[in-house]
Amino acid sequence: MATALLTHSDCLEHVTPRGHPEQVARLDAVMRALDGLDLKRVMAPLAADDDLLLAHPKSHMDTVRNAALHSGWISLDAETHMSPGSLGAAYRAVGACVKAVDMVLGGEVKNAFCAVRPPGHHAEREVAMGFCLFGSIAVAAKHALDRHGLKRVAIIDFDVHHGNGTQDLLEDDARVLFVSSHQMPLYPGTGYAHEDGAYGNVLNVPLDPMSGSAAMRSAYENVVFPAVTSFRPELILVSAGFDAHASDPLAQLNWTTADFAWITGRICDLADDLCEGRVVSTLEGGYDLDALAESAAAHVKILMERGA
Ligand SMILES: [Zn+2]
Repeated sequence: MATALLTHSDCLEHVTPRGHPEQVARLDAVMRALDGLDLKRVMAPLAADDDLLLAHPKSHMDTVRNAALHSGWISLDAETHMSPGSLGAAYRAVGACVKAVDMVLGGEVKNAFCAVRPPGHHAEREVAMGFCLFGSIAVAAKHALDRHGLKRVAIIDFDVHHGNGTQDLLEDDARVLFVSSHQMPLYPGTGYAHEDGAYGNVLNVPLDPMSGSAAMRSAYENVVFPAVTSFRPELILVSAGFDAHASDPLAQLNWTTADFAWITGRICDLADDLCEGRVVSTLEGGYDLDALAESAAAHVKILMERGA
């Protein structure tokens, strides 16, 4: 067994306006940090439209596709922009997650990391927002459930922002437990503990600004991990944003690189106990290039240790 790394050079063709935090250099930094690691490297395929339709209505696909017809930049909201290469990048980002699920459930690898952009966890059913066009991790969950016949999939989203898109796409699906820890108050302003899904299948864990490592570890040990254990998932998906890092310019949770290694190890512990170690993780946020690279490498190295 091994750990797969799925990525594609098309993900570098999603070019955002100068000064935008979700920039091409993020993926370059992550890939440099993973250079030389003994990973099963896989070119991310393009998602099929049928994949996107597992989670989004056709009207949303049409909106994004039509935006892509414009030359130059087009803005879908104040911070979500598309360049000519954005549509291809978004399809690779979703395709990576779908392919990673196939590889992990097919027993080709124990776990996988998708080094892709744009991120996906803010994209709602019919709204591209927060740098995100399509809900990649939500599509991957639907793929595992509808096509592989799994009965229960858990998603853990440790990006510093609430995964409002993933929640919107999956809160009415009792086969999914969606857990998001995030700084509150912060963009996008949702993710209160009382938002718990149609079947109690959403768990929001807001954390105070500056609360740091101890509060995070306590919340995960006392709230998140017991909930995941009770749910008994057959696969664990991870929205791996690294913007809770102390160096990140967009938030103030003050996590360390060691915290990302810790949380990854504990997620792998759960996966070992519950679902034969099966974990598929995808890159979400993380905007300080050095902290992002260091944290993503720490995350992947733990996946590799546990996937060996
Ligand atoms: Zn984020």
